[in-house]
Amino acid sequence: MAKRRISKQKMREIAEQRMESLMEMAYREAAEGRRERARRYVDLARRIGMRTRTPVPKTVRQCRRCLSPMVPGMNCRVRIGQGRVAVHCLDCGAVRRTPYIKEKRANDREGSEKGTA
Ligand SMILES: [Zn+2]
Repeated sequence: MAKRRISKQKMREIAEQRMESLMEMAYREAAEGRRERARRYVDLARRIGMRTRTPVPKTVRQCRRCLSPMVPGMNCRVRIGQGRVAVHCLDCGAVRRTPYIKEKRANDREGSEKGTA
């Protein structure tokens, strides 16, 4: 197969568009409970990303372990506590914790400012 030459930038643009629509489709499938298909779409998007060395768009979050798209209230549980947000994947049980200390500090500062004013 003859390789058609296109610029890297052009290639990435196309890749981004395709990955975005794939991730949207994955999200929709996951929201409707079709896990296998959702995972397949995420997998395809990731492959495009690897092949073209483009980061997968962050419009839809995915589980790091099982690669299913995370739909709050459907296949993942989001809880906050001790300065962290914990996202549980209900498909494989993986937990992802992200700190939110910065936001908390900003809130505290705002709160005290309001308190003195
Ligand atoms: Zn998972």
